[in-house]
Amino acid sequence: MVAETTLFIDLEALAYNYQVLRQKLEPKTKFLAVVKAATYGHDPGPVAQKLVALGVDYFGVAYASEGAALRAAGIDKPILLLHPMAAHFELILQHKLEPSLYSVALIRQWVEFLASKNITDYPVHLKFNSGLNRLGVSLNDLPEIIDILKAPKAKKTINLLSIFSHLGASDDLEAEEFTLGQIAQYEHFYNMLVGDSAFEKLGLNRPWQHLCNTSGVLNYPQAQYDMVRCGIGLYGYGNDPQHDKLLKPVAQLKAPILQIHHVAPGQSVGYNHGFVATNSTVVASLPLGHADGLHRIFGQQQGFVWINGQRAEIIGNVCMDMLMVDVTQIECHAGDTAIIFDQEHGAQDLAEAVGTISYELLTGLSKRIKRTIIP
Ligand SMILES: *Cc1c(COP(=O)(O)O)cnc(C)c1O
Repeated sequence: MVAETTLFIDLEALAYNYQVLRQKLEPKTKFLAVVKAATYGHDPGPVAQKLVALGVDYFGVAYASEGAALRAAGIDKPILLLHPMAAHFELILQHKLEPSLYSVALIRQWVEFLASKNITDYPVHLKFNSGLNRLGVSLNDLPEIIDILKAPKAKKTINLLSIFSHLGASDDLEAEEFTLGQIAQYEHFYNMLVGDSAFEKLGLNRPWQHLCNTSGVLNYPQAQYDMVRCGIGLYGYGNDPQHDKLLKPVAQLKAPILQIHHVAPGQSVGYNHGFVATNSTVVASLPLGHADGLHRIFGQQQGFVWINGQRAEIIGNVCMDMLMVDVTQIECHAGDTAIIFDQEHGAQDLAEAVGTISYELLTGLSKRIKRTIIP
């Protein structure tokens, strides 16, 4: 029984998933936990604190504000900032976030910024675009990058800790050729830069290498290099039914039935007659809607919930704060609990039913949903 719509967050499952992923890796490989988008919609403070206790080496966030929130939650591990922008340079510095430098322009801006503040030896990471064509420097940028790095200003201000890239289809074994091509391009770029005589003369430490996300770890462990960056796997999803079985969903979303209606043939349910009953229909109303991240696409019998062990389709149009499900065949009452997803009925299945992925369903769960930690 739940008194209100609640996302339960099982920290034991988080620990379990961490161990599963960790066991795929060499002991020396560092583990970066990706905690962007409010720990994929979970609860950043407690989840990140648990990850520290489990022994992760690094955190990764998308935006500076997310790094600031981690610091506010008492996290003092290194934080890689994946998508920095000039508007946030002060915030990055203030919270000791380590920017991913993904363009020649950004490298220049960051070096100038540090120099203007007389800051030396600031940890940064260089991102190479190996085929995702999202963010990253290219092979053509090499001469310019080497020029910048060997100039006194950059030598003084930045400490290039790693050179990394990101896989675009590591979850799709049919795209193996593409992924192996990405790995080869990344290695080529790394060797060109680090092997360049100008780079060697800089007397820098060898930057570490990292490439794999969760599916990279599961499908291409040979490419683990010095560190991996895992997000979705920690939260219990592996992007493939085989891998899902190895992991335990951390989040469980439940809502109480607020009211039951008996709808006669010809009557409708929800806005704009989104559902019209052809037979006598029993309808249960649940307190969550598109403002909570259960988008309208889940309506019209596309999405479903579980009530007393049975599947109930979402009927009509999902409202902002409520949705209605068909419980004609299910013995249930106001106050009973509807499971939107849990460890048995994973978010992956519900996401797939409407043509999306666990990532989108989880990260879209709004702040309005109460979070309850199961320690
Ligand atoms: C989000 C992200 C990850 C984590 O990916 P998962 O598939 O959730 O493991 C890793 N690296 C980068 C650059 C990312 O943007």
